[in-house]
Amino acid sequence: MDYDILINTAPIDKLINETKLCLPLNIVHNKVFIVGVGLELPMTEFCETITWLYFPDPAVPFYRISFHSRYGEVTPDNTKYWSVMCECAREADDPITEEEIRNQAVEGLILKSIITREKIVSLYSKTLNYGYPIPTIERDNEIARAHAVLEPLDIYSRGRFGGWKYEASNQDHCFIQGKELADRLFLDIPEKLYKTGLPEKRG
Ligand SMILES: Cc1cc2nc3c(=O)[nH]c(=O)nc-3n(C[C@H](O)[C@H](O)[C@H](O)COP(=O)(O)OP(=O)(O)OC[C@H]3O[C@@H](n4cnc5c(N)ncnc54)[C@H](O)[C@@H]3O)c2cc1C
Repeated sequence: MDYDILINTAPIDKLINETKLCLPLNIVHNKVFIVGVGLELPMTEFCETITWLYFPDPAVPFYRISFHSRYGEVTPDNTKYWSVMCECAREADDPITEEEIRNQAVEGLILKSIITREKIVSLYSKTLNYGYPIPTIERDNEIARAHAVLEPLDIYSRGRFGGWKYEASNQDHCFIQGKELADRLFLDIPEKLYKTGLPEKRG
């Protein structure tokens, strides 16, 4: 495919593996299992004032749960139902199955008195093979090594896994990364948020 400027938002390790523009990158990510539980109202009372909770607790598989039904009308009928979303992180090569995690998440929600089993009306799960880009000591050098071969070809890799810098890739950061890259390419304004590790080349 011909291009003038190519902006990549796919994981940068995949881009390098598929284009073979340099040796594979030594960078680390994990995977995340999403487990959604639909429940009959009423909500567990103490959840009524909470939008999300963190669990630094190995007794449960999730590190965070969110009550999406409290964010607006995102359950099929919010006069009858409410919902909980669990995020469960594992190393990328962890052999645990989605079904095992789904069962563990339900048991964890019951253990923490978030839900009761008899109120469950639906279960949903999804595996995100790319969950979090994990910062490591080697990361900045490895990412710079990739940008050093990509940018001379006018390929710019940005975003959560495109840029692989967790500390600068929340939703708000990703919007800023996109805007600042466009400003750099078209208006010659240097990027402030995302650092490639290369001397800056203007638009
Ligand atoms: C587990 C998890 C937790 C999160 N927690 C938070 C949080 O607490 N706060 C927060 O603000 N945000 C959070 N996020 C959201 C995340 O930060 C946003 O999704 C972020 O905006 C990502 O933007 P992006 O443009 O890089 O990626 P995306 O919006 O995912 O865009 C990438 C695009 O690239 C495309 N793509 C990927 N691979 C290929 C390919 N091979 N070929 C062609 N196209 C491809 C995809 O289809 C997609 O359109 C979380 C995300 C995850 C997965």
